[in-house]
Amino acid sequence: MSKTHPAEPVAELLAAGHRHFGENRVQEAAGKYPDLKARYPDLRLHLIGPLQTNKVRQAVELFDIIETLDRPKLAKALSDEMARTGRNIPCLIEVNIGAEPQKAGIAPEETAVFLQSCRTEWKLDIAGLMCIPPAGEDPEPHFRRLKSLADDLGLSHLSMGMSGDYERAIACGAGEIRVGTALFGSRPSL
Ligand SMILES: *Cc1c(COP(=O)(O)O)cnc(C)c1O
Repeated sequence: MSKTHPAEPVAELLAAGHRHFGENRVQEAAGKYPDLKARYPDLRLHLIGPLQTNKVRQAVELFDIIETLDRPKLAKALSDEMARTGRNIPCLIEVNIGAEPQKAGIAPEETAVFLQSCRTEWKLDIAGLMCIPPAGEDPEPHFRRLKSLADDLGLSHLSMGMSGDYERAIACGAGEIRVGTALFGSRPSL
């Protein structure tokens, strides 16, 4: 996760062979990544942050995977844009794994129905699930719950784990971890 960090450390990681990067804001990514993508065509840029429907056009153009598909309105907007442009990028469903009222994401018990709609109604390529466990709680039960939900749904790709808990996420079945601080150092506080 390279959010808030400038292009230079990203370029260093690219030179070292790393290819997958995440950003949480379309605007910030649009400033940083087009040049890097031109230099490294196999760079894969992940959107991991809230996506407003008015930014969908830009997001589909710039990102290679959307990890924060969190509501039907967004699914419809992504579907329309992908049909319009012919650019079909995979998505992960963001699951509100701790059932936190203030947090984005599909409720665990509603994920099966949402997945079905994404595929049949909106023709989206759903590659897996993503979650951000509740802050201040042991993340492991949440990781395990996401893994078992994905198994039930026949989905293999799991995005979970950050700098503080990625080893445990991998032990629970993460295929993708989202590491910022451990790679780039701490972010400037806002
Ligand atoms: C910033 C961010 C991360 C990375 O967090 P670190 O603790 O810096 O590794 C992971 N996931 C999401 C959704 C983020 O926004």
